[in-house]
Amino acid sequence: MSDNKIQLNLKHTYADNVGELASFIIPTKLPNPEWVITSNEVAELLELPDSVFSNSEYLNWFSGNSSLANAKPLAQKYTGHQFGHYNPDLGDGRGLLLGELQISTNRWDLHVKGAGQTPYSRSGDGRAVLRSSIREFLASEALHHLNIPTSRALGVFKTSEGIQRETLEQGAGLIRICRSHLRFGHFEYAFYQNDTELFESLVDYTYSDVLQLGSLKSESLTIQDKALAVFENVVKSTALLIAKWQAFGFCHGVMNTDNMSILGITFDFGPYGFLDDFDSKHVCNHSDYNGRYAFDEQPGVGLWNLKALGHAFSSLLSKDQLVECLAQYEPILVNEYSGLMRHKLGLSKNDKGDQVLLGEWLGLLQKDKRDYTNSWRLLSNYDGSNDASIIDHFIDRAAASKWLEKYKHRLLLEKDDTQVRMQKMKAVNPKYILRNYLAQQAIKAAEAGDNAELESLFEVLKQPFDEQPEFEQYAQTPPNWGKELSISCSS
Ligand code: AMP
Ligand code: MG
Repeated sequence: MSDNKIQLNLKHTYADNVGELASFIIPTKLPNPEWVITSNEVAELLELPDSVFSNSEYLNWFSGNSSLANAKPLAQKYTGHQFGHYNPDLGDGRGLLLGELQISTNRWDLHVKGAGQTPYSRSGDGRAVLRSSIREFLASEALHHLNIPTSRALGVFKTSEGIQRETLEQGAGLIRICRSHLRFGHFEYAFYQNDTELFESLVDYTYSDVLQLGSLKSESLTIQDKALAVFENVVKSTALLIAKWQAFGFCHGVMNTDNMSILGITFDFGPYGFLDDFDSKHVCNHSDYNGRYAFDEQPGVGLWNLKALGHAFSSLLSKDQLVECLAQYEPILVNEYSGLMRHKLGLSKNDKGDQVLLGEWLGLLQKDKRDYTNSWRLLSNYDGSNDASIIDHFIDRAAASKWLEKYKHRLLLEKDDTQVRMQKMKAVNPKYILRNYLAQQAIKAAEAGDNAELESLFEVLKQPFDEQPEFEQYAQTPPNWGKELSISCSS
């Protein structure tokens, strides 16, 4: 393989600290790579030069067609609970950590998804299709711009290879970035292997380096102290994350513990979906037959997953410590969610009737199957005089009218003038979200070689709270064909 001339300051902290969880790989060459969509913002975040997308040396490295002298690409070993059952056979089956890029103040994992087979591929082909790579790219960038913590993506490239799924699809690779790819499943693996030394190395590495919880005093801390700090941090960040998913109507779809990030960021996108019509029981993953990961199950599943992680930490933490940490989850989540929902309602003060008011509003949306995002945006345009705009939005106009009276009454307790309230509401009630049908249209065109639709959609999603009149059509609810798109795990 040819040597590459680009120069990147790459670190190897994962291999150095938890090398037993790494398989070093010579990446498979992905043929004729070509960028399909790229993020200049992420390139800037990574302090990469302007030429990163035009200089083929970069793409050649990302796609396994050349090597960097200082890179040691590796596949990570982890396990996890999938749909409630422990699976010891997981790991990066089609992803590689290409390198950890050290820039001025931060370090970023550069990961390529779809990079070919690894020791953890089982019967899989190690490949990713263009469809799912675009879906992950769009979702992670969309979530980021909604202020929801997430992994991000530098870009998606296609290859000239056909990939067999239900049909023959186009092969692709996604360059994913985040501060670390450590999952709950890394800790579960070490625990179920009874490998105390490895578990402690993971804790130490996570504490000092990944989460940077250390302080000058940390020299004197025991491994138990560090484990407690790490676990508590994960409980808190996961609670905050899931509160945000619930507020913005994001359904992850496969909340297996191997897809849960130790950083508390949205991670490993599969058959996710943003809600169209509000249905609290919505199941976005068509392979999730029992609705384990239904929209309103997500907070409970988050806790279930943390308990699975806690079980792994039981080698270092007492039952009381675990219970105490886990007990923080619900109040943190509820507090964050309530705060966000109060903002969405335009309420800056806290009143005892607010929860009921919110519950009744969501009840109206659920009963009349109204679009979650657009209904909130509509409410953000309520100026105190346009009652019909709200009442006519619902089938049960009498119930809507009754609710609106209560809402008007409640608004009297607020100090902000109406225009200020409306502005504040629009800053938390997006006009544009990544609807499945929009993604589908962009994917279809990209598969046919036209990336214009994808570019436009990406532009819109970068400013989800702005009006963007030229993109008005992207705020429309799905046409009939786009309502129940079947999104499965196949990717
Ligand atoms: P996921 O459902 O994408 O989170 O993947 C679950 C597990 O299956 C992980 O260990 C993946 O690396 C692996 N996997 C998924 N798709 C493939 C594939 N096409 N080839 C090899 N491994 C895969
Ligand atoms: Mg996964």
